[in-house]
Amino acid sequence: MNPFIYQGLASRVVFGWGKLETLAEELDKLGARRALILTTPEQRHLGERVAAILGERSAGVYPQAVMHVPVEVARAAREEAARLGADCCVAIGGGSTIGLGKAIALESGLPILAVPTTYAGSEMTPIYGLTENRLKKTGRDIRVLPKTVVYDPQLTLSLPTAISACSGMNAMAHAVEALYAQDANPIITLMAEESIRALAESLPGVVANPEDAESRSRALYGAWLAGICLGSVGMAIHHKLCHTLGGTFNLPHAQAHAVVLPHAAHYNREAAAEPLRRAARALGGQEASEVGPLLFALNRKLGIPASLGEIGLPEEGPAETAVIACSSPYYNPRPFEQDAIEAMLVRAWQGLPPA
Ligand code: NAD
Repeated sequence: MNPFIYQGLASRVVFGWGKLETLAEELDKLGARRALILTTPEQRHLGERVAAILGERSAGVYPQAVMHVPVEVARAAREEAARLGADCCVAIGGGSTIGLGKAIALESGLPILAVPTTYAGSEMTPIYGLTENRLKKTGRDIRVLPKTVVYDPQLTLSLPTAISACSGMNAMAHAVEALYAQDANPIITLMAEESIRALAESLPGVVANPEDAESRSRALYGAWLAGICLGSVGMAIHHKLCHTLGGTFNLPHAQAHAVVLPHAAHYNREAAAEPLRRAARALGGQEASEVGPLLFALNRKLGIPASLGEIGLPEEGPAETAVIACSSPYYNPRPFEQDAIEAMLVRAWQGLPPA
């Protein structure tokens, strides 16, 4: 057996339909008395619902979260938290809102109670991102890991089908890459396999019937496990390519993940044969070489765009992305090979299945 290190990350997780109603109790358990409630402008109504649940424990709603956490937005939010005498933040929303909570926690140390409403998984990670002068910097700091996370699948009913599908495949990418991470360990491997199974089984149900409580619950359960994977072990070629596509070409985060994942998994089919066999079994297959095609078929079933061209990558994008990725590669079980990566991205750009 290979040696391993497992570092547990402590947080309290409450999962269940309607659990938003327990938020005041959870705040008490955290020892907090005045919460600043963070949302995007679009989800302000949810913030107001939380304020009603918290009553006098609410310091106010701050509906200013936006994509990629610009430093000015983070600074203004921190000042508002101090002005209102908040002793914790409730971040209710997707990765952008939780990211704002993390930016506040990073400097003020205020604890975060997160209520995720997408499948992005940020709530389970000590990773933060901040954007200054159009450059996004990321880092790890245990202070930004939410202390309590309340998963209420009912809140995901309003997530539009197309976003649910891509966000779910974004979660899938965390779980798939965790299987062949450099610092993979047995606990995370179990979680990754279970996450892949839960997401593959539930996402078609979410897309076919977005109101289905069981599918919505299982998808959020899979996303929770995927978030733990992302927070616990290092990611590989797939994440490197998606960061490049997002950073250089401004491609939409979750969609880029969904389109690239079948190709990236296929790229690693021989170098990570044993880990990918686990993924294959969770997807209903047997062999590592089936993972890419099975993920591609799942994307098709979920109505996700097949090609990087469709989501905005210009024709020269595959070649440029391959050069940038190879100039500062992440660990990957198969070395970064510029020609092979470009060929793979050309197929992804054209919307062809992995080969
Ligand atoms: P998002 O938070 O940007 O949300 C997208 C939009 O959907 C927003 O307008 C939001 O208000 C809306 N929305 C969210 N939940 C909804 C719901 N249930 N119903 C209706 N509308 C809803 O999107 P995201 O994909 O969750 O997060 C992406 C961001 O998170 C990226 O910036 C990414 O880098 C970051 N992220 C960070 C980590 C980390 O560990 N730090 C992990 C994953 C993602």
